[in-house]
Amino acid sequence: MIFHSTKNKDLTATLEEAVFRSLPPDNGLYMPEKIPQINPEFLNSIETRSFKEIAVEVAHTLLSEDISREDIQAIIDRAYDFEAPIVKITPDDYVLELFHGPSMAFKDFGARFMAALMSHFLMRSQKEIKILVATSGDTGGAVAQGFHKVPGISVTILYPSGKVSDIQEKQLTTLGHNVRALEVDGTFDDCQKLVKEAFLDSELTSKFNLASANSINIARLIPQSFYFFSAYAQLKKLGKPLVFSVPSGNFGNLSAGLLAYRMGLPVEQFLASTNLNNAVPRYLNSGSFEPLPSVETISNAMDVGNPSNFIRMTRFFNDDWDLIKEKISGYFFDDEQTKKTMREIFGNTNYVLCPHTAIAYRALEEYRQINKSDFTGVFLSTAHPAKFVDLVEETLGKSIDVPERLQSLLSIEKVSIKMNPSYSEFKRLLMSDLH
Ligand SMILES: *Cc1c(COP(=O)(O)O)cnc(C)c1O
Repeated sequence: MIFHSTKNKDLTATLEEAVFRSLPPDNGLYMPEKIPQINPEFLNSIETRSFKEIAVEVAHTLLSEDISREDIQAIIDRAYDFEAPIVKITPDDYVLELFHGPSMAFKDFGARFMAALMSHFLMRSQKEIKILVATSGDTGGAVAQGFHKVPGISVTILYPSGKVSDIQEKQLTTLGHNVRALEVDGTFDDCQKLVKEAFLDSELTSKFNLASANSINIARLIPQSFYFFSAYAQLKKLGKPLVFSVPSGNFGNLSAGLLAYRMGLPVEQFLASTNLNNAVPRYLNSGSFEPLPSVETISNAMDVGNPSNFIRMTRFFNDDWDLIKEKISGYFFDDEQTKKTMREIFGNTNYVLCPHTAIAYRALEEYRQINKSDFTGVFLSTAHPAKFVDLVEETLGKSIDVPERLQSLLSIEKVSIKMNPSYSEFKRLLMSDLH
């Protein structure tokens, strides 16, 4: 597959180049030049396929020019020892549970595939790779787990001090080995800016092979399309059109849904569901994109003022706002509405939602109010509620089960390097590394 920059169609890259460079040199984002169509016969019998079979077929459709089917199978086998089950919540609403991976957030789907894909390419070279990643909460944990102890790769994670949950912080700061955490006295946007600046710094890029693991990397976007196909496979027998509600921050998840749609997955509507960081819902309403500084909310993994995948979303529709607003409806809710939804659904069904997932559920309910057509609603559950145990317990007024995998983290001492959101400080730290 050939990729080109969103800023210049002539600036192209192979898969391997796009994965290791992350960003094109003109600071655009990589997009597929052409979007291959999923085989209609495969779609016809997709309900008989397992998650991994679906992942292999989708990846092969996209990447057959770059990787053999056998190698794709090996990458998928290495990446996924967990599933994306659909669970029924109300008569017409289903949750797609994306939190069964090692860090218990949906970002495992992207990070694990990316780690396996990079290892695949690195097997043929002796390169040392330095991964830089900014996290608003869950990316760091998924990336840390995905790359932990992978030979030839070191990982530097930047996270905003005091703005991630205890468990999230422990997931970033307790693995050690080739993973280190920088605790930045600032916001997620500050962290993201530092990483972006490093990639544009020729002194750094000539000394190190830098790679990004943020959702801007195409190697994370592609695998996130797998579970949209898988959700369709699990719900196809109901015979109704699907509406996907996607809790969104940087809009990588929703962009992956759009990729699946553009490959031929039947989707009636996407809901862009978010918190008070509402640049995308405002854009869908007005046609003008006006990012604002991020504000803090209880759904902290979505506290993104200027979503980096926005340009990809619009590009999937040739930047035509009329087409975009037909296919995507925007919703945003404040913390009180989020908590109320968590309580309501727990009261009615006993199902515990994390705050991000609650926003996606609420958007689906509001969409249903104004849209009376017969459809199956799917809301994506992006994290296990126990990742936000204090908030969830306080909101529901009762204690919840914390899986052993998370519980055991809390007793381990965190190790982080504190720093200011200053590029010169960040660069000095990176330059002092040995390789
Ligand atoms: C990262 C994250 C999101 C936002 O996903 P994007 O792809 O950045 O839109 C939502 N919920 C949780 C729990 C997350 O970790």
